[in-house]
Amino acid sequence: MPQTRSGSVTNFDAWKHAYASRAANLSVSEVRALFAVVSRPEVVSLAGGMPDVSALDSDLIEKAFLSMMASKKNYALQYGGGQGDLRLREQIQEIMALDGVHGSVEDITITTGSQHGLELVADLFLDAGDVVLVEAPSYVGAVGIFRHKEAHIEHVFTDEQGISPEALVEAADRLRAEGKKIKLLYVVPNFANPSGVTLSAERRARVLEICKERGILIVEDNPYGLLYFDQKPPAAIASLDSENVVYLGSFSKILSPGLRVGYVLAPPAIREKLVLANESAILSPASFAQMLVSEYLSISDWQGQIETFRQLYKTKRDAALEALTQYLPRIETTVPAGGFFLWLTLPEGLNSKEMLPLAVNELVAYTPGTAFYGDGRGANNIRVCFSHPSAENVKVGIKRLSNVVNLQLDLLDTFSSKD
Ligand code: PMP
Repeated sequence: MPQTRSGSVTNFDAWKHAYASRAANLSVSEVRALFAVVSRPEVVSLAGGMPDVSALDSDLIEKAFLSMMASKKNYALQYGGGQGDLRLREQIQEIMALDGVHGSVEDITITTGSQHGLELVADLFLDAGDVVLVEAPSYVGAVGIFRHKEAHIEHVFTDEQGISPEALVEAADRLRAEGKKIKLLYVVPNFANPSGVTLSAERRARVLEICKERGILIVEDNPYGLLYFDQKPPAAIASLDSENVVYLGSFSKILSPGLRVGYVLAPPAIREKLVLANESAILSPASFAQMLVSEYLSISDWQGQIETFRQLYKTKRDAALEALTQYLPRIETTVPAGGFFLWLTLPEGLNSKEMLPLAVNELVAYTPGTAFYGDGRGANNIRVCFSHPSAENVKVGIKRLSNVVNLQLDLLDTFSSKD
């Protein structure tokens, strides 16, 4: 019988008979399962998608905190409205405008991180068996939510320009002909997690057109859009249409994930239900965290901080690409123009999940590609997250990874040459 961390023996199946059937779809994500291993200081983690919060100017956070406590203490420590603080929603308008999105404060709802926004949207729209179209690969946290809702997750072919419009049409029309209800298209158009790719401007317009024609709501998840390295990505899909797109944003990557503040811009037709769903789930988003974010935005050069992050992550991306060229020249990689991730494709026959214990033995961790598919694909892919370790350690990590991968490649060569 398994033991808990405190050492007592627990029967984890004790309440199995009573769980809702959908609870069977809650399983430990491959990313989270790694956390215990990667927190060992000797391991270089290229696994969890964590920002480098050490690059935050903590004096500014402290100033914002003190200013908040001096002027808004009673508000910050109290329950708030279910839609979130009005001043912060106005500030969010300014941030969204940087992505070309001009939404009304009335249509913005503040959530506990954008993960919670996605959970609310999924809960509003998905019955068991409904189809969600997603990129191939797609964000592990989204796949987890859709799975929990017992949705049918359909991965649509995606290349270096993002999700393919032709494949989208094919999948949507095929599934509809099979009698399935297609409810949502979930996309991360900028520097996607996990692939690092960016949806081209032409495809944004085309994807919108395809979804509109078919009554499919687009959920545009954009936590990385402001973290571009050289060039701003194309304007958000939500900038092209205010009725067919739900837009998710977050302070996790441009400020701090510990604050858990995200937001949803929803079309007026959806927004009221969304606020009700937010209230039903959490009464009100955390006033304290909202006030702190709002104060930080008021008193700091937050755009300068984002510029610091951009330069830092660009340096780390460059370190990763340089090390890949040097140590893993035979492995295909995406080249992200922003964000945290790149996506490696190993030759067919190599299995990144099976290789992981060997990698940890070499003191490097990564996330196996299967985490980003709802259908078992991704066995020969690896997500490399370069945002958290130092640039030096990114190189060290990739060198260690190459010890494992190159050995596997040699074995593969040996076996295939014997056939
Ligand atoms: N969407 C994507 C694509 C992400 O990568 C993440 C975080 N890894 C989230 C949503 C959730 O972010 P938040 O901290 O705002 O909940």
